[in-house]
Amino acid sequence: KRMKLSNQSLFQQKAYINGQWTDADDGATFDVVNPATGAVLGRVPRMGAAETDRAIQAAKGAQAGWAAKTAKERADILMRWHDLMVEATEDLAQMMTAEQGKPLREARGEVAYAASFLRWFAEEARRVYGQTIPGHQADKRLMVIKQPVGVVAAITPWNFPAAMLTRKAGPALAAGCAMVAKPAEDTPFTALALAQLAEAAGVPAGVFNVVTGEPETIGATLTHSGDVRKLTFTGSTQVGRLLMRQSADTVKKISLELGGNAPFLVFDDADVDAAVDGAIASKFRNAGQTCVCANRVLVQDRIYDQFVEKLAAKAGALRVGPGTEDATDIGPLINQAALEKVQSHLHDATAKGAEMVAGRGHDGLEGTYFAPTVLAGATREMQFFREETFGPLAPVVRFSDDMEGVALANDTEFGLASYAFVRDLGRVYRIAEALESGIVGINTGLFSTEVAPFGGIKQSGLGREGAHQGIEEYLEEKYICLQI
Ligand code: ADP
Repeated sequence: KRMKLSNQSLFQQKAYINGQWTDADDGATFDVVNPATGAVLGRVPRMGAAETDRAIQAAKGAQAGWAAKTAKERADILMRWHDLMVEATEDLAQMMTAEQGKPLREARGEVAYAASFLRWFAEEARRVYGQTIPGHQADKRLMVIKQPVGVVAAITPWNFPAAMLTRKAGPALAAGCAMVAKPAEDTPFTALALAQLAEAAGVPAGVFNVVTGEPETIGATLTHSGDVRKLTFTGSTQVGRLLMRQSADTVKKISLELGGNAPFLVFDDADVDAAVDGAIASKFRNAGQTCVCANRVLVQDRIYDQFVEKLAAKAGALRVGPGTEDATDIGPLINQAALEKVQSHLHDATAKGAEMVAGRGHDGLEGTYFAPTVLAGATREMQFFREETFGPLAPVVRFSDDMEGVALANDTEFGLASYAFVRDLGRVYRIAEALESGIVGINTGLFSTEVAPFGGIKQSGLGREGAHQGIEEYLEEKYICLQI
């Protein structure tokens, strides 16, 4: 089945290298499947090392000219790219729902969120200020200038096919870097549509390239290349570790947004209804497939039963179905492997004594659908406590005092996001400061915005995206010492 698009040129089944729509050298392709139906949506080139090298060389060739433009010139192009994205909202949303599965409402929200990074970094481009330093000797004048790092490789995941790309391409291009991007195999069409819009916005050939194909080969080529000066990656911790290791030989700058295992704490002075709404928003967005989704819900004794009952009622009322239907809250999971992981966490938990108080998992559902499921009586001995579930399964663990809650929350190698619902102001500060994560949401289940720094500590990654910090990741500082 074809996607319904008003601008069919957004649907590209070729990679984009040096301003050219390009096939693999040997003509090989792979299929992209709609997770809601299992139907093949189209195919894209299965590229390898040779094509990736050509993309790197194209970026290298375009790098100096792009960096030499004024910040305003680059900003104007990024703003046009933003405007074209916003104009194409409906087509991009249809495309994301088709290849990723999220409800159209969420897909439209993602287009706005994704475009916001282009606008923000168009604005930031002109605020890349250097520094002058009082000299250490009377005849010395010291200054620091900021320059683009050079060619950037970006590897992006399938869960936010547009936003995870613009969050990298926006600051990279704003800073004056050229980029080679490799989108996830499940969702390449959104990235290719963005390339089409970039070209229409006036991004010069070679400045923004998209290669599709074998992740291992493309990843190895990008990381081993001395011409690639920076790697920015969003995806699993396992692949992040591998890419970090591969980048060591060429001492690349790296930014990594890796897995999370977000604790969602509810303390006994919390507004329980607000906490339930926050948990629903955090846990079930994109069917639980975001790296900041609540993975472990931790609730204090005194309000535990009340919270579980209310959460079960709300989660049980969420509607499961194809993202194309207006009523849908929860679309399909991305693929069979994702379904199996969520099922294994469910089976492990119930085998160890957790009780299903809402939802029935995958039972009675087709394809990769999984009903929002709430587990009472969950404990730290269960698999979900160690690993990110990445699906609509909400295990609720009981804790007694504040310090135990925080200790449970921090008992993980990950440190991306945490949530706490708590009202006493002293407690708010103590808890927010004690939580080991790059992001803390207090009394809210939603915090993502282009204006704030997003990123993790511990094994959730390196660097920050968005905010002013986001552009610094693509800049090098150069100290100039002048004798007068
Ligand atoms: P997930 O488990 O969510 O799919 P991955 O880390 O596997 O997360 O995928 C995120 C991105 O990393 C995707 O674009 C994927 O193609 C890419 N990827 C997976 N394996 C490798 C690899 N060995 N080298 C480079 N990129 C990879």
